[in-house]
Amino acid sequence: MSELSINRLNTADPDFEVALRRHTEWEEGVDTSVRQTVAEILKRVRQEGDAAVLEYTAKLDSLSVASVNELEVPRERIDAAMHAITDEQFQALEAAADRIRRYHREQLPQDWSYEEADGTRLGQRVLPVDRAGLYVPGGKAAYPSSVLMNAIPAKVAGVEEIVMVVPAPGGELNDLVLAAARVAGIDRIYTLGGAQAVAALAYGTETVPAVDKIVGPGNIYVAEAKREVFGRVGIDMVAGPSEILVVADGHTDPDWVAMDLFSQAEHDEQAQAILVSPDADYIARVEASMARMLPEMERAEIIRQSLADRGILIQCASLEEAARVSNLVAPEHLELSLADPDALLPQIRHAGAIFMGSWAAEVMGDYCAGPNHVLPTSGTARFSSPLGVYDFQKRSSVVHFSAAGADRAARCASVLARGEGLTAHARSAEYRIRD
Ligand code: NAD
Repeated sequence: MSELSINRLNTADPDFEVALRRHTEWEEGVDTSVRQTVAEILKRVRQEGDAAVLEYTAKLDSLSVASVNELEVPRERIDAAMHAITDEQFQALEAAADRIRRYHREQLPQDWSYEEADGTRLGQRVLPVDRAGLYVPGGKAAYPSSVLMNAIPAKVAGVEEIVMVVPAPGGELNDLVLAAARVAGIDRIYTLGGAQAVAALAYGTETVPAVDKIVGPGNIYVAEAKREVFGRVGIDMVAGPSEILVVADGHTDPDWVAMDLFSQAEHDEQAQAILVSPDADYIARVEASMARMLPEMERAEIIRQSLADRGILIQCASLEEAARVSNLVAPEHLELSLADPDALLPQIRHAGAIFMGSWAAEVMGDYCAGPNHVLPTSGTARFSSPLGVYDFQKRSSVVHFSAAGADRAARCASVLARGEGLTAHARSAEYRIRD
């Protein structure tokens, strides 16, 4: 059964905003049993190190070995993967990696400092984290693009060592994933997955080195483990289902827009695809395209379910109103499928990635446009940004005082410290006051 059903809203309806919120809100309930399982795995790996990692890998991924060293993917296995992939695949990986690298280099921040008249110098240094951990989902599917998108910004940031983990149920590894790791310059790969892999990266074991930041998507066990270890290590984000919002003026072939919506909906049943247009006739044409093409899709059942549950066609009065709707949703991906997308761009306030015009399909952003495909979901684009070089760096402030500069600042500090009742603070400042 694959006939199309999709939700409809009209901005003219008095309860439009309430209805929109109801259709777009997402809160992932982590059930208690997952939370308990993850807590137990984290505790055991933290206390028992390699022994617990081996036990969970045998139990959950049917991979039994005598030591965690045996779970490190040998160089020869990665060489074999490089030979196993086709030339076309290798070239696509290289081309995508080059574009991602080029784009992320633009994000490299500069150290800065300024000097005051009395010789005081203040500044900021930016340095990469020492070691990053990259989780690559194994389980049901393989994601080489995810390897490139997570590892390349870390490399560009100057991270010395990247440790990748990828589960291999029964020991089967994906050649494209291994080749992507080689292309991205990853140093070590362990066939580990789930919460036990996150725990090994966060706490370190006898064999797996502890990292400073863990990035990469994964299932509910991985997401929950990342949430739990946050604070001890940095994490990228805990992503919700993927979303696209297309603002269209009728300029783009309806089949193209229909397929762009499908490309999001085929991720999983919770993915969200939204079309907003002031042109009712065009909305009907996109809908007709979707109805016609749905039965041809390999993942028709997932698409059908996703559109029925979370897909929305929104009729609005104008493009300005479409921009307002988009800002309410703050989508992960926004396509401005318009004759003149630049004219609307100034009105867009919140979106993870913005694709401008008919030619800029989101799929290019997923793989190889250059910008990162790890983007804020579930409205979090209101306050957060795509994964970038800055996620693998931290800033230190740098303070130099001349004697004259210290004298002035110490007087100020002393007054404030005494006001807070902190005598040692005050006296430490007062030593620096002349006479
Ligand atoms: P996965 O690597 O995330 O999870 C597999 C691991 O889960 C196993 O190694 C095992 O250790 C653990 N696990 C499974 N069942 C368990 C249980 N009962 N108890 C304890 N641990 C258990 O691979 P997956 O399962 O295929 O999931 C991949 C996920 O990544 C999907 O949810 C997919 O949507 C998501 N993903 C998201 C993005 C994104 O950009 N948002 C990209 C790629 C993948």
